[in-house]
Amino acid sequence: MRKPDEKLTSVLRLNPRQEKALKKLCLVTIQDLLLHFPFRYDDFSNIVTISKDYLGQIITVEGTVSKIKSRRIFPRRMTITEIFIQDSEDNTLRSVWFNQALSLSGIKEGMTIRVSGKLAIDQKFFSMSNPSFERAGRAATNTGCLVPVYPETDGITSKWIRWQMKNILGYAQYLEDFVPEETRKRLHLFSFKSALKQIHFPDDNEKLMIAQKTFAFREMFLIQIKALQTKMAWDGKKAISMKHAKQLTDNFIAKLPFTLTGAQEKAYHEILKDLEKPSPMNRLLNGDVGAGKTVVAAIAALQAAAAGQQVAIMAPTEVLARQHFESFCRIFADRDFSIALLTNSYKLLSKKPAGNISDSCIEKLPRSDLLEKISSGEIDIIIGTHALIQKDVSFGKLALVIIDEQHRFGVAQRSALQDETMGLKDGSRKTIPHLLTMTATPIPRTLAIAYFGSLELSILDEMPKNRKPITTRIAQPKQQREIYDFIRSEAGKRRQAFIIFPFVEESKSMTEVKAAITEHGRLAEEIFPELRLGLLHGKMKAKDKEEVMKKFKDKEYDILVSTSVVEVGIDIPNATVMLIENAERFGLSQLHQFRGRVGRGEHQSYCFLFTDSADPERLRVMEETTDGFRISERDLELRGPGQFFGRVQSGLPDIAMENLANMKLIRISREEAKGIVSEDPQLKKHPALRDAIRKFQEEVHME
Ligand code: ADP
Ligand code: MG
Repeated sequence: MRKPDEKLTSVLRLNPRQEKALKKLCLVTIQDLLLHFPFRYDDFSNIVTISKDYLGQIITVEGTVSKIKSRRIFPRRMTITEIFIQDSEDNTLRSVWFNQALSLSGIKEGMTIRVSGKLAIDQKFFSMSNPSFERAGRAATNTGCLVPVYPETDGITSKWIRWQMKNILGYAQYLEDFVPEETRKRLHLFSFKSALKQIHFPDDNEKLMIAQKTFAFREMFLIQIKALQTKMAWDGKKAISMKHAKQLTDNFIAKLPFTLTGAQEKAYHEILKDLEKPSPMNRLLNGDVGAGKTVVAAIAALQAAAAGQQVAIMAPTEVLARQHFESFCRIFADRDFSIALLTNSYKLLSKKPAGNISDSCIEKLPRSDLLEKISSGEIDIIIGTHALIQKDVSFGKLALVIIDEQHRFGVAQRSALQDETMGLKDGSRKTIPHLLTMTATPIPRTLAIAYFGSLELSILDEMPKNRKPITTRIAQPKQQREIYDFIRSEAGKRRQAFIIFPFVEESKSMTEVKAAITEHGRLAEEIFPELRLGLLHGKMKAKDKEEVMKKFKDKEYDILVSTSVVEVGIDIPNATVMLIENAERFGLSQLHQFRGRVGRGEHQSYCFLFTDSADPERLRVMEETTDGFRISERDLELRGPGQFFGRVQSGLPDIAMENLANMKLIRISREEAKGIVSEDPQLKKHPALRDAIRKFQEEVHME
């Protein structure tokens, strides 16, 4: 039988270059290619005879080839091919292509062909430049319809993909459709097979929309099923109940160098109430950068540690873990807690009482000793990276896990995390730890409720009063000199600056790296030869990235040039300038997050948004407010929710992602998922769905 999981190399005839390119696109099997979706469509469906009315419009013209001319321009090594066709009303169209001689070599005089492109007039002829073309006898694939445009790479053109796609589309019938038929009918969705056909080769716009809706639903449906299953499992578990020690908490708060905000008060009460229950807490602390999540987490940790239980705190990177370690040592300086930092590079234990985190208070221990002290329950608070709860660490009496998230996370990641937390080795007890997760950036309230229906929310929507607002300015490129001078004068005061470039981080492509290196070189040599510049980009190894961040933190660089990978959550109180190039290319939430890297110290800070966009209106909100929730709500309106969660799953096309903006879709998916999971939690009656969930889980990686 032909199988969709057969390797492309064994089914298609590929040259080595194509093989390599497919690999680069992560396309290995037939199924991978089937799920490689167009990111847009050229609408070539308007088939007409030529007339002036269509000037400037995208049209398709069918006609007979009357003349072919090909010539080379030597100095530029270019071939120009001209083909004249006559349509049914004897109008002439002149099409011109550059360097397409080979692919045009099949076209001969007398043939009927179709060309699709923008109609213009050139030297008195109706003309098209570089139009899409194909022979007219063939089914419309590259012309005359909604033509799919795919993410391309060297050697793999959209045209090639279209051609192959037509050949392999038949395999779709062997793919199982995990959406129950009943659900599909009720929601008027396509079957998987029809949806695939329509997403690649839509009959019309309406069918394309249904196909996109079908894929968006499938994704959201899986997410919701997984979340509900996890919630059910979670709800069935027991946790250690820890009585709210009011006196202890009040004393602790009274000694803080600041007064808690109302939002912090509310949040910690909600958390402490949860910790009193014998069932595990699963709560998201949703707050802006700088809203003061750490101290709320510390109050929860205090509760647990004082009750003689252990707390694990996880940060996304080593640098951040180290930062948390220092904060917690400081916060609990007068407590009799032992606090450990355990990551690949750090194995540290604070001596009791921790006090100042000078080296004399901190012991370096062999890993095995630390592990031993964790499993015996001797260490109260263990801080580390995500590896802390995955690996060989076993806890003697873990009652609370706190996760500080760097990444925008999806429900699927959340579920995976909960599964891991549930699986924690916790001595011989039959309980699981309470779980508190903290966002790195505010998630719009509505969205959080829709997506995280299975967890409780605490919202920190109030900033501490003492903040100096960051001065934010939208700047034109002509002001560049002036702002560079400003950075120089700040550096003169020993302050530091970030310069961010909008090179895509996701693709981690060589062009990004090259551009980043070039810009770094230009700035270092031409603009700031007297300053020390660090460079951070997506192709660097995690370890090297951390090294650069650490150097910046230690003031070994004056300026950090970075792509969008710059560490979120890192505290560089000495940095006062955030300069963002081509700011219009970023979402507002992301800009807000970058801006949050400065203004963390005592000095006045500045954020400059460079843009040459003629219409920087969208960016205005950045000048108007520093309220992260307001900005994220605005961003949700403008760009949909995809950006808040990253790509939930590889293979989820942007078009489906856009559909996820649809709250109605989220609600409907959840209802359908509920109907199924409440009746059949193990999905025994839905084997295809069960398989899909398993695969879905495997594909979700936690970093
Ligand atoms: P985030 O929510 O981004 O994790 P942090 O917890 O790191 O924010 O807090 C940022 C800074 O604000 C810290 O230096 C912290 O001590 C301080 N802070 C927290 N709460 C308050 C408050 N209520 N008033 C004043 N400063 C506060
Ligand atoms: Mg934080």
